[in-house]
Amino acid sequence: MTTSTQATLELTLLNHWIGGKTYEGKVERWGDVYNPATGDSNTRVAFATPEIVDEAVKAAAAAQKKWGAASLAQRARVMFAYRQLLDKHKVEMAAHITREHGKVASDALGEVNRGLEVVEFACGLPQLLKGEFSENVSTDVDSYSIRQPLGVVAGITPFNFPAMVPMWMYPLAIACGNAFILKPSEKDPSAANFSAKLLAEAGLPEGIFTVIHGDKVAVDAILAHPGIAAVSFVGSTPIARYIYENGTKAGKRVQALGGAKNHMVVLPDADMDLAADSAVAAGYGSAGERCMAISALVTVGDAADKLLPKIQERIAKIKVGPGSESSSEMGPLVTKEHHAKVRSYVDKGESEGAKLLVDGRTVKVQGHEEGYFLGPCLFDNVTRDMTIYKDEIFGPVLSTVRAKTYDEALAMINENPWANGVAIFTNDGGAARRFQNEVQVGMVGINVPIPVPMAYYSFGGWKASLFGDSHVHGKEGIHFYTRGKVVTSRWPEPHHRGVNLGFPTMK
Ligand code: NAD
Repeated sequence: MTTSTQATLELTLLNHWIGGKTYEGKVERWGDVYNPATGDSNTRVAFATPEIVDEAVKAAAAAQKKWGAASLAQRARVMFAYRQLLDKHKVEMAAHITREHGKVASDALGEVNRGLEVVEFACGLPQLLKGEFSENVSTDVDSYSIRQPLGVVAGITPFNFPAMVPMWMYPLAIACGNAFILKPSEKDPSAANFSAKLLAEAGLPEGIFTVIHGDKVAVDAILAHPGIAAVSFVGSTPIARYIYENGTKAGKRVQALGGAKNHMVVLPDADMDLAADSAVAAGYGSAGERCMAISALVTVGDAADKLLPKIQERIAKIKVGPGSESSSEMGPLVTKEHHAKVRSYVDKGESEGAKLLVDGRTVKVQGHEEGYFLGPCLFDNVTRDMTIYKDEIFGPVLSTVRAKTYDEALAMINENPWANGVAIFTNDGGAARRFQNEVQVGMVGINVPIPVPMAYYSFGGWKASLFGDSHVHGKEGIHFYTRGKVVTSRWPEPHHRGVNLGFPTMK
């Protein structure tokens, strides 16, 4: 073994981040983190016990009192400093993501940039937290509303956006005056510690941002801990439901964003080149491991006959390879298990009678035979009773479902249990407007395949894609991480009018 190989295989231990530094207590449970492009594991991540979660909550609660009372200017200043630091180090952050998640470098950088938009939004907190004021609601009486932090709040996040999804949460939670505990995915945990270091460098007081690594044990300890006031969750639907039910049972405020099965409707009058570019980008970008990826391509009338050859042409040019190589356009899937699961869906699609137009199972990446690669797969003639239509696959598999009419396409989407994102491609403004009104989905794209809202709007789906009332970031994010209070005050003239036991009617 050469020295350089030895250096790359050196074991890294990634620990929790508690009280503004790497955890120094005893850790008994560790998990392996893999590089999906090679199948190697040279990182082990700490897994928290309920005792460690309790230590973290106590440290966070102690720090939050002072932070919650810090001026808006002080809190915003930390966000401005963090924004500068993250922008400066974003290539490094993206490299952590590519190494553990597998997505290509440009995609990892894109995710950091989208997260930065939320940090920029949080920099405007003094404006966003403004309350309302009514003078003289009664003679000499004024009323005003204020929003106050909740205390200690937690975020539990999925593997597919290890930097961006936590950033949907912690910049706003922290700017609002809370202490935030992040439990990132155990599959790609390094981005969380990288953020913690930059936040500390930006001047965030110790204990305001905590990282607790781990699995269900850590999650259950978070859900049960009485010192945590609210939980934000993003992940698969069964776990989102579990988090919502158990978190609310424990008296917490919960927003839990679940899985997705996003449809893209193509009407016969659409610009077919635009639709083909969009379907390929949204179906295979990040190897289909995006909650806003397009999974079901719903063609209306004869649209499929014009569209599918164009999609096939484009797929043929996609370069599958390790995310760290600049020529790669699509990286591997995240784990060996997930790779096997996605492949099995392709097998199932064939056995259930769908027509496999492009078979990504044959793709091999030279020099990376142990990596979890699967090329783009394209099905035609998928029907609504097939497993590949019914399940969330979360891989590079695009299923074409042919609908005779717009109404049939719309009904299919509205009857689907998931409702995260949806898109329509058409040149008919009236049809697009009708679709925007009639479709029962949280985020709608019109000739835009991945309609992820900007940070100043809120992100979230409907139905089985969201448990709870609040979407993340934007105004709903500010509301989620604060509690409203209305103050009614009287500063009387020096004379006193005496006791009145009647009901206050505010005349
Ligand atoms: P996941 O549900 O397996 O894991 C999410 C988090 O929950 C992780 O931190 C994990 O450690 C924890 N967890 C896993 N199993 C648990 C259990 N039994 N009990 C308690 N906690 C548990 O999701 P994932 O595979 O990491 O991410 C992919 C999923 O996330 C997809 O379904 C995708 O659609 C969804 N997602 C949704 C959105 C959205 O905005 N709606 C965004 C990104 C990802």
